[in-house]
Amino acid sequence: MRYLSTRGGIQPIPFKDAVMMGLATDGGLLLPESYPRITPEQLNAWRRLSYPELAFEIISRFVDDIPPADLKGVIDRSYATFTHPAVTPVVRENGVYILELFHGLTLAFKDVALQFLGNMFEYILAERRQNLNIVGATSGDTGSAAIHGVRGKKGINIFILHPHGKTSPVQALQMTTVTDANVHNIAIRGTFDDCQDMVKALFNDLEFKEKYALGAVNSINWARVLAQVVYYVYAWLRVTEDGKAPVSFSVPTGNFGDIFAGYVAKRMGLPIEKLLLATNENNILTRFVNKGDYSLAGVVSTLSPSMDIQVASNFERYLFHLFGEDPARVRAAFAELKAEGRITFSNEEMALVRRDFCSVSVDQEQTLDTIGSFYKETGYLLDPHTAVGVRAALEQLPGDSLRVCLATAHPAKFGEAVEKATGVPAPVPPAIAALEGMPTRCKVMDADLAAVREFIVATIG
Ligand SMILES: *Cc1c(COP(=O)(O)O)cnc(C)c1O
Repeated sequence: MRYLSTRGGIQPIPFKDAVMMGLATDGGLLLPESYPRITPEQLNAWRRLSYPELAFEIISRFVDDIPPADLKGVIDRSYATFTHPAVTPVVRENGVYILELFHGLTLAFKDVALQFLGNMFEYILAERRQNLNIVGATSGDTGSAAIHGVRGKKGINIFILHPHGKTSPVQALQMTTVTDANVHNIAIRGTFDDCQDMVKALFNDLEFKEKYALGAVNSINWARVLAQVVYYVYAWLRVTEDGKAPVSFSVPTGNFGDIFAGYVAKRMGLPIEKLLLATNENNILTRFVNKGDYSLAGVVSTLSPSMDIQVASNFERYLFHLFGEDPARVRAAFAELKAEGRITFSNEEMALVRRDFCSVSVDQEQTLDTIGSFYKETGYLLDPHTAVGVRAALEQLPGDSLRVCLATAHPAKFGEAVEKATGVPAPVPPAIAALEGMPTRCKVMDADLAAVREFIVATIG
């Protein structure tokens, strides 16, 4: 399998090169040249597989430059860190299925992809005798999942900048209690934007980036999307009995990475009826699906902060397919976005969008209301991100259809909102309780680019 760029500017490259490239060098995103097909017979034959076994069946179809036994090793190591034997179990509550993606080390679904990416980086770097210095900014979730994905791994250093005192206490502890020698937390006296601006500046200094082998772990790496395809198939197998039953998935969406993985599963032949794109008040993608209106607005802060995003970085991957795999049309669309603050679509294009997707925007009052009523009716606690998806599914998908809602975070991770909605504190899982009182390591610094750069250089040595 070879990978190409949505902007059409690179020669096709094999899987390992695609993982190491991250963002395509022409500014586009990497995609496989084609999608392997899965048949109903194959699906039925997969029913008895464990999560890692199924992951191998799916991922290996996209990877032809790693020996199968090695790929199996990478996958097994990644999912051995999950605390539930099913890795991503499915439960049924109140007429919907809930796909629990939060049994990883940081209790959010990003662990599913970042455990795999961390092990994949380590494997490729060892083979190539290379080192990688990951630098990133986080407002909470991605940073901790990335740190846990690469802690203790050979050939990798990770530097994560977070705004000092501005993440939730749990999020900060999930990062700073990781004291492995290759993990470097930097708390910046400033905002998340200060952190992000400094990281961007470091990456824009191409000489510095090259000299110190800087790399990123943001949501545009193809390996992350690929790892997420697996749980759509896994959930489908749990809620159906034969190889053709259509299932709809409700996906709380920020960067369009998670829901794009569902689109890939559909392209591979998984019988998916609708992909329900659930947004909070940051609803550009809902306006797009429902009205063909993809125009930028400001970001507002909500109870589901990991979805407070305007420009969804993985959306470009979907546009490439929507535009018939035409890189010139993709380039024109992003030129229009830059110049006009919007992308316009034809009626034919919008008809294609609505064949696969539907969308609902759920505001914060509805989110709290859903957490509260769901708890009252079932005793099951939803985190605010998951609640956005559940609310959307209950509103939009027929009650007699197979509906799977992706649960993207454990309720205890956003305990304040959960307590506000239900009146009871979310039970604290042992993984969070254990953080209190653990040793921490974190460098507190001013929002001073030169000082941050110096710290990184001195640390790499
Ligand atoms: C990142 C995140 C999302 C959004 O996922 P995307 O792939 O960015 O669409 C939803 N919920 C939680 C808890 C997250 O951390």
